[in-house]
This record gives sequence, structure tokens and C-alpha cells, in this order.
Amino acid sequence: MGLTQIELSNRVALITMNHPPVNGLGYALRVSIIERIQEALQNDSIGAIIITGSEKAFSGGADIKEFGTVKALTEPHLQSVIRVIENSTKPIIAAIQGVCMGGGFELALGCHYRVALTSASLALPEIKLGLIPGAGGTQRLPRVIGVEKSLNFILSGDPLPAIAFKDSPLIDAFYESHLIHSAIQFAEQLIDEKKPLKKIRDIRIDYPNFESFLQFSRNTVKTVAAPYPAALKVIDAISAAITLPFEKGITKEREFFLDLMNTSVSRAMRYAFFAQRGTAKIADIPPDTPIREIKKVGIVGAGTMGGGIAMNFVNVGIPVILLETSQDKLDKGLSTIQTNYQNTVKKGKLTAEKMQARLNLIQLSLNYSDLQDVDLVIEAVFEEIGIKEIVFKQLDSVVKPGAILATNTSTLDVNTIANFTNRPQDVIGMHFFSPANVMQLLEVVRGDKTSNDVIATVMKLAQKIKKTPVVCRVCDGFIGNRMVEQYLRMAGFLLEQGATPWQIDKALEDFGMVMGPFRMSDLAGNDIGWAIRKRRAIEQPQLKYSKFADVICEAGRFGQKTGKGWYAYEKGNRKPLPDSELENMLIQFRADHGFKARKISNDEIVQFCIFALINEGVRILEEGISQRASDIDIVYLTGYGFPVYRGGPLKYADEIGLFQVIQVCNKFYQSTNDDFWKPAQLLLDCLAQTKSLTGS
Ligand code: NAD
Repeated sequence: MGLTQIELSNRVALITMNHPPVNGLGYALRVSIIERIQEALQNDSIGAIIITGSEKAFSGGADIKEFGTVKALTEPHLQSVIRVIENSTKPIIAAIQGVCMGGGFELALGCHYRVALTSASLALPEIKLGLIPGAGGTQRLPRVIGVEKSLNFILSGDPLPAIAFKDSPLIDAFYESHLIHSAIQFAEQLIDEKKPLKKIRDIRIDYPNFESFLQFSRNTVKTVAAPYPAALKVIDAISAAITLPFEKGITKEREFFLDLMNTSVSRAMRYAFFAQRGTAKIADIPPDTPIREIKKVGIVGAGTMGGGIAMNFVNVGIPVILLETSQDKLDKGLSTIQTNYQNTVKKGKLTAEKMQARLNLIQLSLNYSDLQDVDLVIEAVFEEIGIKEIVFKQLDSVVKPGAILATNTSTLDVNTIANFTNRPQDVIGMHFFSPANVMQLLEVVRGDKTSNDVIATVMKLAQKIKKTPVVCRVCDGFIGNRMVEQYLRMAGFLLEQGATPWQIDKALEDFGMVMGPFRMSDLAGNDIGWAIRKRRAIEQPQLKYSKFADVICEAGRFGQKTGKGWYAYEKGNRKPLPDSELENMLIQFRADHGFKARKISNDEIVQFCIFALINEGVRILEEGISQRASDIDIVYLTGYGFPVYRGGPLKYADEIGLFQVIQVCNKFYQSTNDDFWKPAQLLLDCLAQTKSLTGS
């Protein structure tokens, strides 16, 4: 079967798109659809044409792999296909089941009739790639579901079941099942009743007060989606649908679409979309590597991380045994899990029955022997190598052969931990982020001896528990924390030179970081960084950092949990308040250490901190700790609140240009004399070879 097939059933031609997995409307499929329509039009016995897809997908939309390539712009583009459909002299019916998204939905809107299973999922998700629908979606949809509904639908980009549109003329007939059979009957009836060729384009939009509504929408979008140019363009396109003749409106929409395609925001968002899907591929591990079956999981340590990790597994029906050192600790761990679930129930996002079913999958234990038949153990005990040694030796002696032994360590050496056992090939790092039940990122740390099937199993399992796994090799801090350490180090120097924590946070939040470095540290607990710096002072005594972070820890300012950190906090309130006491401590610190405060611009703050992420990220790439630049970017997008519209630190470096990055690093090297700021060799190599870091 080709990309489409045509079946003639009496007077009806059924054209089925057959381009798995989701009937992406790439060039070849577009050509094929037109050919099939011509074939049906030329056949005198045919009175109506149905276009349909598979059970899974009518069509997932444009083939975004073609974006930015010649094929995307090669005729027939989607608009031309839709024009052929709309101008057909025989009625064309879209029969929709499964997903019907983006260009697929736009194609359906160009048909004369639409029939659908109630469960079909409709969406115009272009906004999530920094775009607007570019094949008539913004012009046709308001004509059938109204201006306000269209605007909300296109701005959210989220799918809705077809039945949600039952009160509009969007779908002409709904069915619960047997779509094709019903669609053929529908088509026969159209022929019998000589129904007209309905064209959505001919509907006039009647919306008297559209100007004030659109103005209100513009104001809202400017505040909530400021960095995303596509949001305002959706409003402009819908305004065109209301005020201009259809042909002019569609031309405007196309103009907006092509302009957006060339924005750095859309480039970054499209890059991030593929980057996220790409993390599962590991260069030296074939995709067909056999994986181990994980039916039961043991978790050692029911503290902050252990409890959250347990929730991930029971959420997908995998039973868990939680092991602790005392009943007291077990009870506390379980009670935190219960509270978390109860909060979800209160929000209406989980039923009480489901909560109970999940809790029933958690078994509590004080005996290692209970772990003997689990398929995977994740250790989440205190971050001390001596304790890890005791735990792993015990696990090695009780857990069945072939089980995977994972550690959630943030900073310790996974190879050292693996060598505590007699089966280092089964040991791996699974570095969850806090809160572990919420955060999407999972760094999968492959030790020197970790076997391929263990890595493959953990990558698959990560997807099952709805995480984004990023593989990395062993180094201090892995990808994310190794980079963040430099970022925080630079933020500390800026304090010495005259900036306040709130100025630095604001500058970086304006850049797009979800949280500035000091708010983030107050949330995580400043004592964690303190412990790491103490260790560093022994391991790397030459590494400079601002001692002011230690001063505030010595004063007990650990952050939110102690009510004071870089900011002050009112009891029971997480809002960080700039604090004069902290500022006075900082002024005193500068005076004691001979630092002269100077005025520091927000641009300098952003460069000093973000370029630190870039330079360290490039080193991680050059050392082979991470297999590709886009994995590093995904770590930052999913684990550290880096703005998706900038694509991640390395994509951002490519966007501003490596020449500029190198120049600024050199400038900082001269002003600080800190070896860190020597530009990473790979940056220089890429520039010399006119290559980008991300290959995009
Ligand atoms: P935590 O102090 O909240 O919990 C540790 C738990 O381990 C405690 O309940 C303790 O009783 C238990 N424990 C200690 N020794 C044990 C033993 N021998 N057997 C069984 N249980 C034992 O610590 P946490 O924040 O959950 O961190 C746990 C691990 O996760 C550490 O390695 C940490 O580096 C890592 N980690 C923490 C975070 C975070 O943000 N907290 C993030 C990622 C990784």
C-alpha cells in the first residue's frame, strides 16, 4: 500500500492516508492525496469522497521534520491540497478518529463535511512550536466555532475531544464507533439528498464587539506570554479573519506564519521539541537491546527523595517496597506520600479510590531480606559515601542476581559505589530531581562498567514513569549540577562586586529563568551547597568562590526552611522578601574583604551567569560526559527552569553566535583571571570549522 489508498464503495471513494505513525502531511503524502482526489473526480460513478486516516490518527499534522527544508515549501503545500479539496465538484468528507492535529485538522476544515468519533482528539498545537496554524486554521475555525472559542483553543494548543464541539457546526455527525461504515452511509445520504458543497470559507463571522474583545486579549497575552511572539500573531490572524475577505485573511495568516518560522523563539521551540524526543537514543546502544523486566521496585530511604521516587512507580502500577532504618522514619515517609496524594485528590485530579489503590502498592519494610526478589532497587539514603557503602554491600548480598541496583546520589562517584558490589555491571545512577514525583528530568548515569541492557532498561522504565531521561557519564555533579555550580559561583562573585541577590535574580528571571539563583538556593536549602563547597575546598583548594555564601550559612540562613536565607520569609509564606539584614551583612562582608561595590548592569549579570552555563556545558560535551548538545539543553529545560523559548544554554549560544560567546568569555577571563573563563576548546573548534554546537 502506498502513502494513500483509494477504495471505491459503490458511489463513494474512500481515500485512506497511510503514512505511519501519524499521517504527517509531508510532501509525498500531500502529492498522493491530490492524485487520489483527481482519480475520484474523474470517475463518473463516484458521487462523494471520504478522506480518512488510521484508527490512531486522522493526521498528526504537518511533517515538522520538513520545517525549514525545501520540501516544506515545495508545491503542493498544504494550502494547495486544501484548495483542491475545497474546490472539488464532489463533496469531500473528513472522517476523523484518533488524533487530528495541526495541519491535519486544517485539512479537515477544508473539507465540505466532517464526521468524527466522539473520542477523536482535535488540536491546533502550533503555538507550542512558536507558530500559528499556517494552513487556514486561524481563518476557518472562527467561522465555525466562534471567535472566543477559537482564540482560546489556538492559544492553548491543547487537544480537546471532538465531542467538546457538539454545540457548533464543526462536526456534522458524531459516532461512538464504526467510523468508516457510518461515514460511507453519511456520504450516500449526501448524494441522495443532493446536499450542497458546504465551504467554511463562505461563512461570515458575526461578532459585533470584536475590537474590544481582541484588545482585551492582546493585553492579557502581553502580560502572560510576553516572550512568545506567536501569541499576539494568533490574535492578529483572527482579527484578519473577522475584518478581511477570506483570501486576504489567508494571505495574512501565511505571512505571519512565515515570519514566525524565522524567529529565534520558534527555532528554539522546534529544536526543544526534537531534542526531547532525541534523548532516548544512545549512540552505542542499539534500540533493540533486550531489556530486563521490572515488575517490583525496592527503594532504600524514605526521606525527601525516596518517597517521591516511590510515587512515580505506584502511579503506573508498579509495586514498591520502601526500606528505612526505623518504623518512625517509615511512618513519616508514608505520611508525606499520603499528604501529597490527598492534595491531588483535593484538587480533583485523582479519585480517592485511585489514591488508595496506589497506596496499597507500597509495602513498608525494615529488613533488607524483603528486597530479595525485587527487579530494581533505588538507593536514596544520606549523601555520605560510608553509608552508601554499607547499603550497597547489603544489597549485593541479598538482592537476586540480575536485579538492577541504582543510586540517586547527586554528587558521589557512581563507579566507586558500583565497586562496593560484586556486580558493578548492574549498578547505575538514577538521579531524580526534587520533588521527585513532579520533576520531569531523570539523569541516567552510566558507570564505567554498567552494562548496555541495564542502561536500556532504565531508559525505557524512565519513559514508563513519565520522566525525560538524559544519559550521562560519571563526573562530579553530572550534567545539571556540574553546570549549576559554575552558575552559582559566578552569581556569588557578582554579590562581592556590588549586586544584590534580588537584582541578580530579577535580571536572570527577566532573561527567562523560572527562578533566579538565590531564590532557587533558598528553596533547595543553602546548607546543601555549603556541604558541597566544604568538600570542594579539600578536593580543589585552588577553585575560587565567594565566601559570603558560607557567611550566611554560618548565621543559620539556610533558606525557606529556616525562615531566612538570601531573602527573609514570613511564617507560612514562601514569598521571598528582600532583606535589609542580609544587605547589611553583604556590605560588611565587602568592607571586611576589600571589595569595592560598583554598578553592575543586568546585561552583565546575565552574561556572567548564563555564559558560565554555556562554557561548562561545552566542556561536558567535549569530555563526552554528555553524548549530544541537545541532551544538555534538555537537562536545563526540564530540570533547571531555563526558558524553552531560548532552547537551552547551548542552543542559546548558537543563536547569539559562538564568536560572541568566545569574545565575552575572553573578556571575563581577562577581568577575573579565573581559568574557568578560558573558552572551552570545543567552542574554538566549532567556530574555526564554522559548525554550531547543536547542529541546528
Ligand atoms: P533525606 O535526608 O531526606 O532522606 C534520607 C533517608 O534515608 C532518611 O529518611 C534516612 O533515615 C534514610 N536512611 C539513611 N540511612 C539508611 C539506611 N542505611 N537504610 C535505609 N534508610 C536509610 O535525604 P534526601 O534529600 O532524600 O536525599 C537522598 C539521596 O538523594 C541523597 O543521595 C541525595 O544526594 C540525593 N538527592 C537529593 C536531592 C534533593 O533535592 N534532596 C535531589 C537529588 C538527589
